[in-house]
Amino acid sequence: QLSERLAKVAEYLPAGAVFADIGSDHAYLPCYVCLKDPQAQAIAGEVNQGPYDSALNEVKAHDLQSRIDVRLGDGLEVIQPGEVEQVTIAGMGGPLIRDILDRGRDKLTAVNRIIAQPNIDARSIRQWFYTHGYSLIDEQIMEEGGHIYEILAAEKGDPASAYESADLEKELWLGPYLMKEKAAAFRKKWREEMIKKEYILDQMQKAATVDAVKVDTLQKEIKWLQEVLS
Ligand code: SAM
Repeated sequence: QLSERLAKVAEYLPAGAVFADIGSDHAYLPCYVCLKDPQAQAIAGEVNQGPYDSALNEVKAHDLQSRIDVRLGDGLEVIQPGEVEQVTIAGMGGPLIRDILDRGRDKLTAVNRIIAQPNIDARSIRQWFYTHGYSLIDEQIMEEGGHIYEILAAEKGDPASAYESADLEKELWLGPYLMKEKAAAFRKKWREEMIKKEYILDQMQKAATVDAVKVDTLQKEIKWLQEVLS
């Protein structure tokens, strides 16, 4: 049974996807997609030997060796330019996902869709999409097993199209689609963040020396959160 989190990542792959799943671990996502869709093909990339072996075993167990190629290597170095049309990267921190995309930019020429599921700091990925010619086409937020996850889908195109841009910094932080939709998981995540930030601000203001820049940033972020959660 695939996690709901990975099932939602898979929803953004078109029928007949030819994709690379980077940091695939057990290759659960490519196996799930290829079992459901007889036209789909995948490369499962892994940098670590243990997960790479798990991926090989999983692919073999489903007899999918002819459609899922498991490759050992760092990030996008496991693919050749033009080899895949979509990339999925799930279950890592946002900054790591951003670095993998950035270091592998030359491999993305034929990639028309990237689906990223950062465990933390989705902002760093939105920012990367924005500055590298990818248009954010959709976002989801969900809770599973006590964690809240965000899923971002982007395509080559006008990076500004998803944003109203009056307050770009705020939209890049909270997510332009998510902050409009305000789903229960979104409210929960950002309510908790707001309480943390209010506490930190309170402590800072009580301290002997006050860092004015940090206080300003916190006040700005708390104001944004109050607005979006009101
Ligand atoms: N994608 C799966 C998921 O979402 O359930 C597995 C997530 S697991 C927490 C992260 C995986 O990414 C690990 O198996 C790790 O070995 C792999 N990984 C970390 N850095 C990587 C890199 N630079 N290139 C490829 N794989 C990487």
